[in-house]
Amino acid sequence: MVVYLNGTYVEQEKACISVWDHGLLYGDGVFEGIRAYNGKIFKLREHLVRMYKSAHSLQIKMEMPIEEMEKVILQTCSQNGLKDYYIRVIISRGTGDLGIDPRKCKSSPTVIVIADKITLYPEHMYETGLTIITASTQKLPAAVFSAQIKSLNYLPNIKAKIEAINAGADEALMLTSEGYATECTTENIFIVNGNTLSTPPIHLGLLEGVTRNTVMELAKNEGIEVCEKIFTTHDIYTADECFVTGTGAELLPVRIIDGRAIGDGKPGPVTKKLLNIYRKFVSENGTPF
Ligand code: PMP
Repeated sequence: MVVYLNGTYVEQEKACISVWDHGLLYGDGVFEGIRAYNGKIFKLREHLVRMYKSAHSLQIKMEMPIEEMEKVILQTCSQNGLKDYYIRVIISRGTGDLGIDPRKCKSSPTVIVIADKITLYPEHMYETGLTIITASTQKLPAAVFSAQIKSLNYLPNIKAKIEAINAGADEALMLTSEGYATECTTENIFIVNGNTLSTPPIHLGLLEGVTRNTVMELAKNEGIEVCEKIFTTHDIYTADECFVTGTGAELLPVRIIDGRAIGDGKPGPVTKKLLNIYRKFVSENGTPF
């Protein structure tokens, strides 16, 4: 695989960064995960706008305009000769010294674009559904860190994922300190009741997922009612259906949470319908490379 690294395209074995890079030393940076289907990058601009906002919020100064970044990503894809990719874009504050002081990162930010593959969950799980648990690890309050900043520090999410793995589950749901459902470790969450889709509002402290927004639009176009509302685990236990969304996971049914079967414990009709519509939509829409 050819990787873009700080202005040049290099073979992956040669894509090396400094051990003084603050992305490595302190998680001081931001990233995006983007998918390409069928020779087209899905929602490229939306992902980059989110990443540039994350960088701006952390005062990481991006010299490369967003249009240029788009070109770099398209070129990384075309150079690698595939049609489907999972693309990882990483921006770190750059190389500094061993202290956290960001002013010591005198170089430009480190910019990396990797176009590779990802399989988060095996295909059969899209037919059977995930088992999830509620993690004891909570989302960080907004006063500590905004959930909209997709930073290189995923430790609370990783801790929640470890809880899931230790419990023999596939994924973990994270709650606010008040006990409201926010999102899973790398996916947003939805419940279905009748013809209504509900997902927690962004202000609760969850990432505004590109997939979440896409699925909400697609559902509305299908005449499904979509509402953003606060809910608890009880509401998930008693919902007709539940699914999670993310760039990597796409739209994945949930069959069990905390030992309770959701509905009849199988992916429901609304979830299945939306998964089909989503897959068709992503294969037909995007920026070609
Ligand atoms: N929440 C978190 C914490 C995530 O890391 C992700 C993956 N980016 C999502 C939700 C889903 O976001 P998207 O649909 O934009 O991939």
